[in-house]
Amino acid sequence: MENIVILGSTGSVGKQVLDVISLYPKKYRVFGLAAKDEISELKSQIEKFKPKAVSVEAEEIKEKLSKKIKKPVQILIGEKGLVYLSSHPKVSTVFICTSGTVAFSALFAAISKRKKIIQANKETIIMGGEIINKELKKHNLSIIPIDSEHSAIFQCLKGEDKKDVKKIILTCSGGPFRDYSFNDLERVTAEKALSHPVWKMGPKISIDSATLMNKGFEIIEASHLFNVPLEKIEVVIHPEGVIHSMVEFLDGAVKGILASPDMRGPIEYALFHPKRGKGAVAPLNLLKTEKLSFYEPDEKKFPCLRLAKESLKIGKTAPAVLVFADEIAVKKFLAGRIKFLDIPRLIKKALEKHRPLKNPSVSDILKIEKEVSDIFEG
Ligand code: MG
Repeated sequence: MENIVILGSTGSVGKQVLDVISLYPKKYRVFGLAAKDEISELKSQIEKFKPKAVSVEAEEIKEKLSKKIKKPVQILIGEKGLVYLSSHPKVSTVFICTSGTVAFSALFAAISKRKKIIQANKETIIMGGEIINKELKKHNLSIIPIDSEHSAIFQCLKGEDKKDVKKIILTCSGGPFRDYSFNDLERVTAEKALSHPVWKMGPKISIDSATLMNKGFEIIEASHLFNVPLEKIEVVIHPEGVIHSMVEFLDGAVKGILASPDMRGPIEYALFHPKRGKGAVAPLNLLKTEKLSFYEPDEKKFPCLRLAKESLKIGKTAPAVLVFADEIAVKKFLAGRIKFLDIPRLIKKALEKHRPLKNPSVSDILKIEKEVSDIFEG
């Protein structure tokens, strides 16, 4: 039995990880779960998977949870709890499905204990890519991604020599406003932006998909995860979402991963890597796919894509500014306080005002949040 820990188990990705794990009760055991404050969901997960320990955000959540569960379980709190779970000697695999920056220390702890690290969280890799890669190199480890695009690239690169890679081709649905004109985009409402053509997602990532910032983030992630420079990463709009991403080699061959758009596929792949599972998702029916189309993204209509590339080029603390500025801008948009195209305008402003700091530490990176909110208030 392999002991698994899931940080962020009550989020959409975390729940799907548990879904996949429950298909293999003889192979995988849920050792630990961590959630922020979703008590009732965590309670039912504890009853179903019977973990040894769980972690929640704060003392008051711990109290509420312990009153609700019948059989006592060890309940930990905050960053210490996450680190305890991700570095526990009995644990072999750590899923990092938290949002934001909360799992930074847990990630470093998992690296230092040479765990199998399966990561859905974007923010830590985007902001801390350089430091994370240094640590991974020290321990001769790599992170297995479960974002569908990065999982596809990971799979395409398997068994290949990095020197033979000509470019990485990240596919992108184009979001709900792919065919909108610039003027149409000025009038987009939050409600409209919350309807994604292929994937069902939370509000923040739905807006990031609509502005293409999500794809911008994925460029930065891909660059760090696969040690590929920006010049070798290309984004292609592929509305059908059948090909999850591709790698082109020097000899002209292009490898891609085609699969049903279901996160449980990449989750199962990561769980079983270097082998494969038995199939947690519905098979892809190519006969039902009428056509596969590809377009170049329009960076004039979707400036977030360009801003993300610029921040990767600058490096240092610039990607952290991108992430925090986007977070604030999207919140303002969802609250109806700014227009859709103001999102990239605000992010651009923040990037222009910021003086990038060389070789930042994690605490330097986390301080950027305050700096960016000061820029926006001022
Ligand atoms: Mg993705």
